[in-house]
Order: sequence, then structure tokens, then C-alpha cells
Amino acid sequence: MKFAENSNQAADYLRRAIPLMVKFNIPPNPLNYALWYTYVSERMPELNTVLDKTVTTYGTCPVMVSEQLFREHMIKDELESAKDIQSSLIALMNDLNDHAHETARRTCDYSEVLQDSLSALTGGKNSALPLESIINNLALNTEAISATTRAFQTRIDDAQAEIATLKAELQRTRQDARIDPLTGLFNRRVFDTELQQLISSPDGVKTTIVLLDIDFFKNFNDQYGHLMGDKVLQYVGKLLLENTSEPLLSVRFGGEEFAILLPGDTLDRGIALAENLRDKIQAIRIKLKKSGEAISSITASFGVTQYRAGETAEDFIGRADSALYRAKSQGRNQVQTAQAGTPTV
Ligand code: GH3
Ligand code: MG
Ligand code: MG
Repeated sequence: MKFAENSNQAADYLRRAIPLMVKFNIPPNPLNYALWYTYVSERMPELNTVLDKTVTTYGTCPVMVSEQLFREHMIKDELESAKDIQSSLIALMNDLNDHAHETARRTCDYSEVLQDSLSALTGGKNSALPLESIINNLALNTEAISATTRAFQTRIDDAQAEIATLKAELQRTRQDARIDPLTGLFNRRVFDTELQQLISSPDGVKTTIVLLDIDFFKNFNDQYGHLMGDKVLQYVGKLLLENTSEPLLSVRFGGEEFAILLPGDTLDRGIALAENLRDKIQAIRIKLKKSGEAISSITASFGVTQYRAGETAEDFIGRADSALYRAKSQGRNQVQTAQAGTPTV
């Protein structure tokens, strides 16, 4: 279940939910709040019907009923997908187990064939058998055991692929819609919401934005492969996380672009932060496993600007983008600023 209301709408739900909770003597814990918040939002009519019925019957909503409703209505999808994944895994394990038992049994039989052949060859049991018959028997059984182990190997390969799919599915169900899965940073959606909120408040007037774009990243991918490119993005994401803390907000803006929002009178701080990150990014060294060669060619360009009272978020970002564009055209691996009065190019 996702809550996508803006802060005004959410505050309105809060103002309406709390008095209801007080009226019906509902303990104000997060679980109950989620229920009553959803109740006043009227987005789940069936939940409202049950809650209405419950408070009419009991004058309140008993703890057990609240928990039940929370499971049934608020986290139903999440619980169901987790259950599906669990049953698929159990089926997979059972199937693999059966195959492993069957393979083990046949390997045991084969071991007996080997023992018998050895005994026949060394004058023990069945030593009267002609050599040709011993060889034929061995060839037949060896082919059979090879086929069995090959089938088992194929089953293991299939299982591996199935497990990878289940893992991806699990990741998807756990995915927070606000987080970029590759870097763990917040995504553009969060950035847009936060920026909108900042610039609509009186404190937002001096907000600074730092835009960061990795240089020649297409070439990097072409030369070292997309997976290596992903590693660079993860590393840059980590650098951003390590070098910005609340109230600063770092996000993956999209592709190989990142953005940092610095609330308050922060232009100088934004420029210093950009310089610091520029330095840390150009110091990245990645050792290639195959050749041992160290890649030392990663750099990024930055555009920094401060919010100008009254402008739209789009204009604000546009100005940071034009500063970034200047950093690119003037040679990359540098920080450029756009003054608040400078119109977007
Ligand atoms: P510039 O210095 O002008 O920014 O050049 P550039 O090559 O970085 O810019 P361009 O916009 O031409 O290419 C961006 C590249 O970033 C292309 C795309 O393959 C790569 N990219 C975007 N997202 C990802 C990603 O998630 N992983 C990887 N490995 N590469 C990505
Ligand atoms: Mg780009
Ligand atoms: Mg780039």
C-alpha cells in the first residue's frame, strides 16, 4: 500500500483522523493511524464499511480487529506476493530433493556395477564371464549414469534460473517506489516533491541545487561494459550518501545524473560540496579483474545554482542544467555556477 498524497492533503487527513480515533477510543499507534487515515481518505470503501460496522457494534475497534483489518486491507498485496514466492520456493526445493534422491540411488547402483566388474576382472565373483560381456555391461551402465547426471545438472541449471527469477520478484515486491534500486538513493519523484514543498515555503527562498553528470559515460559503458558502468553509478551514489546528510537530499536524477538539494542559504556550501565530490569522483580507481588494469578516467561535471524567489521548479532546475551544460562545454570535470539572476540559456 502506497501513500502518495501531498503534504496539504495528508495534513487534512490527519486533522480528520485524530478526532475520530479519540471519539472511538482507538489507541493512536501507527497501525491504527494508517487505518483511520485511509478511512478518512475514503479510498477503500470496503474498509470504511467494516470500520463503520465495527464501531457501531463495539463503540470502538478492538485491537484484534484492527490488526486483522490492517493485514486484509493495508498490506494484502505485499503479504500475498510473499506467500506466492514462498510456495514456489518450497515446490522447487521438493522437486530438487526428489531429483537428488533419484540421482543418488542410481549412483549407488552404478557403484555396485563397478564393484562387480572389478571382482569379475580380478578373479572373484563372475570371473568366468567373457571380457567382452564385462566391457559391454560397463559401457551400458556408464552411459546410463551419464544420462542421469546430465539430467540432474540440467535440473540444477533450471532451478538456478528459477531462483534468480524469484529473487528478482521478491526484490520488486519489496521495492520502495521512492528508492532507486541501483544506487539506493531517493529517486527523481522524491526530489520533485521535496523541491515543490521547499519552494512553496518561506524558508525555500535560498535553496541551492547541485546537478552532477558523469562525463563521457556512454564511452565508459562501451569500453568497459554496462555492469562496470553500474558499479560506477553505485559508487557515486555511495559517495553522495556519505557526503550529504539531512537536511541535504541526494537523489539519482536519472541515468548518470544526480542532484543534491541544499535547503537554506547554501550557495557557497553547494559549490564547496560540488568541488569536494568532483575531487572524490576523479580519485575513483577501479581495478579490472581480468587485466589488473586500474581505470582512472571517471570524472563528473557540475552545475550549481540558487533558487530565485517566485520562479518555478522547472526554471530553477533549468538554470542548474545550463550551468552544467557550461561545465561540459568548457572541458568537463569542473563546477560551474549560474547566478540567481541569470536567465536560462
Ligand atoms: P557527457 O560527458 O556529455 O555527459 O557524455 P555522456 O556519454 O555521459 O552522455 P550521454 O547522455 O551521451 O550518455 C549517457 C550514458 O549513460 C548512456 C547510457 O548508456 C548511460 N547510462 C544511463 N543509465 C545507466 C545505467 O543505469 N547504467 C549504466 N551502466 N549506464 C547508464
Ligand atoms: Mg547525462
Ligand atoms: Mg554524462
